[in-house]
Amino acid sequence: MNNEKKILTKNITSDLNVREDFPILEKSINGKKLVYADSAATTQKPSRVINKIKSFYSSQNANVHRGIHALSEEATREFENARVVVANFINAQSPKEIVFTKGATESINLVSQTLGEAWVKSGDEVLVSTMEHHSNIVPWQILCKKTGAQLKVIPVSDTGEIEIDAFNKLLCKKTKIVALNHVSNALGTINPIAMLTKTAKKFNTIVLIDGAQGCVNDLVDVRNIGCDFYVFSGHKALGPTGIGVLYGKQELLEEMPPWQGGGDMIKKVSFEHTTYNEIPYKFEAGTPNISGAIGLAEALNYLSELGLDKIISHEKRLLKLATDRAQKIPGLRIIGNAKNKTSIISFVINNAHPQDIGTLLDQQGVAIRAGHHCVMPLMDRFGLDGTARASFCLYNNEDDVNTVFDAVETATKLLG
Ligand code: PMP
Repeated sequence: MNNEKKILTKNITSDLNVREDFPILEKSINGKKLVYADSAATTQKPSRVINKIKSFYSSQNANVHRGIHALSEEATREFENARVVVANFINAQSPKEIVFTKGATESINLVSQTLGEAWVKSGDEVLVSTMEHHSNIVPWQILCKKTGAQLKVIPVSDTGEIEIDAFNKLLCKKTKIVALNHVSNALGTINPIAMLTKTAKKFNTIVLIDGAQGCVNDLVDVRNIGCDFYVFSGHKALGPTGIGVLYGKQELLEEMPPWQGGGDMIKKVSFEHTTYNEIPYKFEAGTPNISGAIGLAEALNYLSELGLDKIISHEKRLLKLATDRAQKIPGLRIIGNAKNKTSIISFVINNAHPQDIGTLLDQQGVAIRAGHHCVMPLMDRFGLDGTARASFCLYNNEDDVNTVFDAVETATKLLG
């Protein structure tokens, strides 16, 4: 699988220049050329992905797994090939370890409601960090309420990094699940997930990594990380919305009870008894998002062909420029200054409301996000209601970064 991954990595020596692959970047907003700096909310889609979905519906559409006709076989082949592409992308041991879901949120809920309910008992503890997205807090809170377990929280430092000493102290025999962010959508922090997983594993815990923000911003190798589960959403990895991935270690997925009941997740049904299908189908009740999975695979192939290492170094350059520009703006404070960061700049300006900053930027054709970014406890930690957040991706360039911060400068003056 590793070899295959290497072959997929095209040898590009020049800087990334992929804007033409993203038709939406030609669009104008408020009479200005769109500058899209909201990729942490969702990424734009390359023509290849759009065309692949169109081509599926134009010439391959049929339901999967059940049909005996040629079209259904073709759709099934494409769908199952998508699973292989995902498995290769994150270096899973087998495509059986890849469950297609709606997204990262659904993947986490699947784990909390199956393994979680079977494994966690009253008096046990579930450990998360302060920087988790609501999707990686609320499902565990619900689990704790149901089981009588306790949710424990690892603090983050002023720079926006997980406090390792506190993590070490919180880990104990009662810790049954550790659920941690790979990359913070609000701060950009890249967490040392392999190290954190290794430490947690000394306590026989289950480790789930929320990679919603991670898989295009850091190289993901689930076997190297050593986690039990890794989840992500297609729409943050240049793929379509409504498709996501739950990676789980084969032996765990096999042991886990099914989640939703319905077609495809069964082998045999009678009114007295049902036998369940093998993994991953046991967790994929009903007709899956076939075109979504195929579109996601196309996106991952595109990323692999460009080369993740190239993409990451391009984004690091954008981050450096963005940080330099932001630091020069009077009254602007960057929230999240981790040593290892992806190309996200969260910021506040004096007493200006982040929403007002976002609106003023929008008037200049610049799309950023403002608000709590679905991390309310993290905002509380920094004593804020929200931040403005500019996030850059492989299709942004230095002109985009300059346009964003020119617009922020203008907004700062207008907001006094
Ligand atoms: N975790 C993180 C870190 C995220 O950034 C997001 C999306 N903002 C999610 C989880 C949830 O992803 P989705 O809404 O695609 O399920």
